[in-house]
Amino acid sequence: MRYADLHLHTYHSDGTRSPREVIDLARDRGITIVAISDHDNVAAFFEIKPYANESGVTLIAATELSCIVDGVDVHLLAYAFDATDERLNQRLGKFRETRQNRGALMVEKLRSLGCAIELRRVEQLAAGGAMGRPHVARALVEAGYVDSVSDAFDKLLGAGKPAYVDKERFRVDEAVALVRAIGGVTSIAHPTLYPNHEQLVPRLLDAGVDAVEVFHPKVDAVWSERYSNVARFRGKFVTGGSDDHGAAKEVETIGSVRVPESLLAPILERL
Ligand code: AMP
Ligand code: FE
Ligand code: FE
Ligand code: ZN
Repeated sequence: MRYADLHLHTYHSDGTRSPREVIDLARDRGITIVAISDHDNVAAFFEIKPYANESGVTLIAATELSCIVDGVDVHLLAYAFDATDERLNQRLGKFRETRQNRGALMVEKLRSLGCAIELRRVEQLAAGGAMGRPHVARALVEAGYVDSVSDAFDKLLGAGKPAYVDKERFRVDEAVALVRAIGGVTSIAHPTLYPNHEQLVPRLLDAGVDAVEVFHPKVDAVWSERYSNVARFRGKFVTGGSDDHGAAKEVETIGSVRVPESLLAPILERL
């Protein structure tokens, strides 16, 4: 039996590891099916596909999409699509561009609040990938304005906090249709993190999302079992992953979630 981790971030979005480090660490921890799900970016897939092959790791094309449905932010994981399709790459390229502008706006807001961080430093931390609040948060930690990344979110960067800047998102139906059109499937990331998730999860499945991420560090055993049943009842499937961001989060979780391959046929049969 092989095991999978289908939710991992690298420095192509807001993680700190390279794709190669992620592959090596996953394999060291007994995981040989990997999806690198960077926010708005599939660069890791192209970069590391040959190395994954050599290492005996099955690499699945993936990305994590920020979506909006009825005013609620929902992250959808997309898997096993044609990563060369220009329709997705153009959209993701646009999202990454607007993330850059948003980074500059957040830095301006912070400077006006007396937190004099440099945009250049945030750009360095983002390393050309999908810039996000975690990069701004790390620059704030480095400059000593906050104690930790989560402190930065609590005081400044979280929704409704003084340096928050909204970002562009997919409509859920649009994301679902695009991923389907390029041969992939979608899964509701970390389902318990949304307000009213009990109503939201069935509604998203009925709207065409294919799976629920029931194995995740923030989903406890009770909800995991419940959402497995909700998915099965609707003819959907389940996914899981560690959502590891390397040192960008307080806890490194790679290896903590191991999904048996037998649950992942709807993804593996697309490869
Ligand atoms: P963004 O896509 O730029 O809005 O940033 C969202 C990302 O920030 C998420 O994908 C998480 O990785 C991270 N994040 C969100 N909330 C927190 C928090 N309270 N503490 C640390 N990281 C967070
Ligand atoms: Fe993230
Ligand atoms: Fe997420
Ligand atoms: Zn994630």
